[in-house]
Amino acid sequence: MATLFDSFQQHSASSAVIIPSKPNPLTVTYSQLAAEVFSFQKKLTKLGVSPRAAISIALPNSYEFIVSFLAASWQRAIAAPLNPAYKQEEFEFYINDLSSALAIVPRGSYKEDSAAVRAARKYQAAIAECYWNGHEVVLDVKDPGKLHGRGTSPIERAQPDDIALVLHTSGTTGRPKAVPLTHKNLTRTMSNIQHTYALSPADRTYLVMPLFHVHGLLAGFLAPLAAGGSVIVPPRYSARDFWADFAQFGANWYTAVPTIHQILLKSPAPTPLPYIRFIRSCSSPLSPKVLHDLEAAFRAPVLEAYAMTEAAHQMTSNPLPPGRRIPGSVGVGQGVEVKILDAEGKEVPVGSEAEICIKGENVTSGYLNNPSANASSFTKEGFFRTGDQGKKDKEGYVFITGRIKELINKGGEKISPVELDNVLVQHPKVAEAVAFAMEDEMYGQDVGVAVVAKEGQRVEEEDLKEWMESRVARFKVPKKVFFTDIMPKTATGKVQRRMVAEAMAKKQQ
Ligand code: ATP
Ligand code: MG
Repeated sequence: MATLFDSFQQHSASSAVIIPSKPNPLTVTYSQLAAEVFSFQKKLTKLGVSPRAAISIALPNSYEFIVSFLAASWQRAIAAPLNPAYKQEEFEFYINDLSSALAIVPRGSYKEDSAAVRAARKYQAAIAECYWNGHEVVLDVKDPGKLHGRGTSPIERAQPDDIALVLHTSGTTGRPKAVPLTHKNLTRTMSNIQHTYALSPADRTYLVMPLFHVHGLLAGFLAPLAAGGSVIVPPRYSARDFWADFAQFGANWYTAVPTIHQILLKSPAPTPLPYIRFIRSCSSPLSPKVLHDLEAAFRAPVLEAYAMTEAAHQMTSNPLPPGRRIPGSVGVGQGVEVKILDAEGKEVPVGSEAEICIKGENVTSGYLNNPSANASSFTKEGFFRTGDQGKKDKEGYVFITGRIKELINKGGEKISPVELDNVLVQHPKVAEAVAFAMEDEMYGQDVGVAVVAKEGQRVEEEDLKEWMESRVARFKVPKKVFFTDIMPKTATGKVQRRMVAEAMAKKQQ
């Protein structure tokens, strides 16, 4: 099982993907999915996509996304999924960073000249709309970009060390870093997840997380398929449809961020309660209270896991019963070696806090074109530094106790504060801006910013929010803007985000 595609049961007549479209859901068997992917791969070749080319996929969760993604890897090309909610400058950054040969966008994007289309055009990526016409997944080429004529088909199938996927992580210090993940990285995570939760062909996963991040893609989609199960893929998470779909399609587990669990807890519980084998929580901290409430409401074990993009998602998880799950702990390494190392790379004693470091076949071998980040991210023994602070108990259970990196974790979505600072200071009336994490009941954290206006200038909170709304995806727009005459700084004149956050919280009281 060394490559993505070999890990699926391509000739099976059982259902792989169910799209709960109304009134007629679409059910696709493994053999139909394989046939669809083969034919889509031919379309990619015909358009001029060759092995190793990067394909930006700016589609929401859909059958089209799934087919594009799998066909890219069948073509030995690199899939680069992008959040369809990005604004033009964000798309430009990602498309340019990978020199994408092709941008796959939803139907209608070309006519409406969407942000993704404008960005792709700027960097001469081919632009193709993708949709399901009731018979097949269509690739409707609108602009061939810099692709000329037929591409080559791979002579051999993908190899374990081929890059299958590139995602970017929000940079703490600067530009987002490109994380290449090989077939080996992905299939290792798939089998780790399969073993952790004993996934089998009998399982039906309800996918609520986006496929353009590792959580949804690996835990919610690829791992269940590697196990021969079925995945139900609604276009987006909706609390209203959740339980109805869950029951109608016989789902028996789901994985999500704590925010989604909390929304489910607030909406009416289904009667009768469906059988739920387990619930997985990942990507941001799950409070013991929410864990407890979930278990009580849905009568299923709740297993918190810990993951990151650089690890092709999962690193640790609490085990299924009869294994012990510890509220507040992210569980034990699952096919992944976990060590708590100090700054010199030395392991600290049980119970002591230092940086959580990991090693395993799932872990990326390094960021693309970023030797300085690679030098500081790996220890001499080849452990990857997660940037999370934590400790281990005697049995190896990991507790995350803090963050070394300064990202804002809004309901699992990581936001770079530096990116927001940079957008804000471009505003003509802003002298200084510092973004930071604010406590938030629903999302765990949300975005706050402290702003110093230019001398003699007045600027309103609404102006700044509008400024942000037109330049960054909506989820990054600050929840609150704090105005201040002087930006709090350390004795040496450095900005410390935590210090700014505390000062602004005080101001508010
Ligand atoms: P996705 O990108 O799909 O949202 P992800 O959480 O696997 O999923 P990243 O966005 O790379 O990946 O975020 C990784 C970071 O998320 C970790 O370094 C850690 O700080 C945080 N994180 C992940 N899981 C947990 C958890 N269970 N509790 C607390 N923090 C977590
Ligand atoms: Mg993320």
